[in-house]
Amino acid sequence: MQAMRIVSFLFFISLIAMPGCRSAISQKDLRLAAAGQTDYAVVKPDKPSEVDEYAVSALTNFLFLKTGAVFPVISPNETSATNKYIFVGLSAPSLKILGKEPLASLKDQEYAARSEGANIVLYGKGMHGNLYAVVDFMENTLGRRWYSGRLISEKPPHWQNGLGQPTFNVERELAVKPFSRKGGFAFKYRLPSYEWMFDFHLQSGMNMFSSKRVNPLAFSLKVMPQGCHTFFGYIPPSPKEQPETNIFGWVEKKDFFATNPEYFTLHTNGKRIVNQLCFSNHGLRKELTKNILEHIRRLKAEGQERIMLDLSAHDNPGEFCYCQECEKLKKKYQAVGGPFYDYLSELCALVKEKHPDVMLHTLAYRLSQTQKPPVMPEGVAFPDNIVIQYASVEDNGDVDWNHPINHGAYEDMLAWCKLTPHVWTWYYPFNGMLDRLVTDLRLMKKAGVEGAFVEFSGDYNGAINFTELQIYVYNKLLQDIDRDVPALVREFTDHQYGPAAAMVRDYLCEMEAAWKASSTNTSFSAGKGMSRRLTGLTPDTIRLWQESFDRMETMTADDERLHANVRRLRRGLDYRTLDEWNDFKKACPGYFADYMVVRNRLGALPPWAVAQVSDWEMKIKTADAEKPLPTPFDAMEKGMVRRFVPVRLGAGVPKNVMDPGAAFGYGAVVTLPDMPFTFGFYQNDTKTHGAKYTVNTNDFFMGAYKIYHLGEIQVTPDSIVWFSSRSWVTQLQLGERLYSPPAPDNDNRYDVHVSLKFVSPIQLTPDEIRQNNKFSLDTNDLYSVLCDQIIFVKKPVKQ
Ligand SMILES: [Zn+2]
Repeated sequence: MQAMRIVSFLFFISLIAMPGCRSAISQKDLRLAAAGQTDYAVVKPDKPSEVDEYAVSALTNFLFLKTGAVFPVISPNETSATNKYIFVGLSAPSLKILGKEPLASLKDQEYAARSEGANIVLYGKGMHGNLYAVVDFMENTLGRRWYSGRLISEKPPHWQNGLGQPTFNVERELAVKPFSRKGGFAFKYRLPSYEWMFDFHLQSGMNMFSSKRVNPLAFSLKVMPQGCHTFFGYIPPSPKEQPETNIFGWVEKKDFFATNPEYFTLHTNGKRIVNQLCFSNHGLRKELTKNILEHIRRLKAEGQERIMLDLSAHDNPGEFCYCQECEKLKKKYQAVGGPFYDYLSELCALVKEKHPDVMLHTLAYRLSQTQKPPVMPEGVAFPDNIVIQYASVEDNGDVDWNHPINHGAYEDMLAWCKLTPHVWTWYYPFNGMLDRLVTDLRLMKKAGVEGAFVEFSGDYNGAINFTELQIYVYNKLLQDIDRDVPALVREFTDHQYGPAAAMVRDYLCEMEAAWKASSTNTSFSAGKGMSRRLTGLTPDTIRLWQESFDRMETMTADDERLHANVRRLRRGLDYRTLDEWNDFKKACPGYFADYMVVRNRLGALPPWAVAQVSDWEMKIKTADAEKPLPTPFDAMEKGMVRRFVPVRLGAGVPKNVMDPGAAFGYGAVVTLPDMPFTFGFYQNDTKTHGAKYTVNTNDFFMGAYKIYHLGEIQVTPDSIVWFSSRSWVTQLQLGERLYSPPAPDNDNRYDVHVSLKFVSPIQLTPDEIRQNNKFSLDTNDLYSVLCDQIIFVKKPVKQ
């Protein structure tokens, strides 16, 4: 107590002695800097951790930028009773101010930031506690804001993701009022998307980082070598099928499907297939456990602490296994994931015994796999050393968990929360909207979820992009779930869009309303796909929004930053406009007259949008190019003949090329054509091959479309026509187009004809090369293959 009195007294003296003291500053205020000078030093804690060192340099860097003054950093033993200090964390001199056990009144991850006389103390509990106090001081006392960790530059030739920086006023004369605050977080574990914005996320309170991007030992609450889909990391079916070999490469045996097919899924057709694992198999359990224990041993030998190991399904749909023993375990746990849960109980018990400091992790993911929790047998507790990351990927992305369509998924999550305190979420925001995200985050908090992760989308798939606003609000809600969201939105949009902010907020509201009015169920189970969403939007609505963006551009024309932000927000709308141009033009030809206005406005495209936009352009250009059916199909009964163009999935480019001779004015490009060229039919759901065709030398020729007769197929709900045995990336999904439930007049049989053209190898543009990957075009190919139509002729029902 004596020391404190002396400090206050000296503070009083020095304030009076300070020349040029402005009258607006009260005597109690802390004068941090004047004319680029400071009397303060920043004091490190005793034994600073890497997070503490980071906190101290973040603070002094910021203070320098804000005031122009260099705040010296000293260690605790360099302090004297006569100077003024900002204490970061606990140290002998800061404890003199704080008393004996200042952390006793704080819970884990809580922090305190306050002034004591002329001094400032910033400290907290747990790994990041001191950093959180520093950030609180910068935000709430010094007025710093950090709205986005990303700064997208559209400067030609290409878009670039830069790092967004904090925003603040420079104040060469800086005095602050006395203050005292405490804070904490709404969720214990907080996971960011886009980890490359590391400083932004760390200073926004994120505390779980993957080991790939940042130094996990220093900054992540848990160290996870790999976050998901690890079955085949530990049990590779073949060397080619082992994921993340940089993490699992040490696993010695890599050909389990060749030697032990019984470790893998028994399909309903009675065959073992490489889909998932058969967890009732004791040999599999032994091998898997051995490899997991070996992984732990290796990580510890490297010096890793706070280890958390994931064991979760390969990212394939379908139940894990249909063998008799697995079926028994499904019954035992009253859940399709039963065999896996049974194994987890065994594994967790063993890990707990051998490595009580290690946590395990898995996904609750997919209705046919682990979304639904087990009902544990009487007297058996669910293991407490495993985190369940709940990922309801099959939700309808347009409505929240309160809506009847999604409520079952929320109940599954609640059931998990009843089983274990370690439930984390892996949430899909699906669209650029805010209301659903906010509602569901609050429901997570209410359910007692321990950790949260939202997989924020890229910004070109959906029609709209408010992703950065979403991330900002997400970060704030993870700290305080009751934050005033409209106020956050106001602050964010005012900063990002200046005079256009009010109109941007109107746009956001109208978008939200449109999503809510849209009656399309976009969940996977509804089977309608994600591409054409927001079906409630009329061309008139799009036109009104485009006109309001014209005004917003004018309003921000003289400020480069604001104008660029408005233009970037508009891109979502422009992408959507191009995507649906043909329909819009039909409905509203006056306004949607020349698509090049929109295309030119988009200017330089980010690499990921190049192929998509050129595909839209191609569809616009070929809108009127449809040719009649060729002979003999033109003479057949109309309803019996259907035709479609296949699709090149994934990142392969170009997806299609314009071709005046093609049935619809363009041909789909086949990824990695084989030689001789093959195509065929396959039932994904039954894993059964059907008709196959090989183009041999006597029916091969270059430069014109020729129709090849594939033969008869039987369409199932999930079946395809594929192209090239080297990849299958170019294909046509038939279920959604042709399948209907069997009936007396329908057995889903079709006769199939495929129209192909062989051309000289397609040369890629520099943009396309940048975007291409190894699964796309092989420059050594002797030809490229285009498919302009597949013709299906319905067969009469087989008697
Ligand atoms: Zn099985």
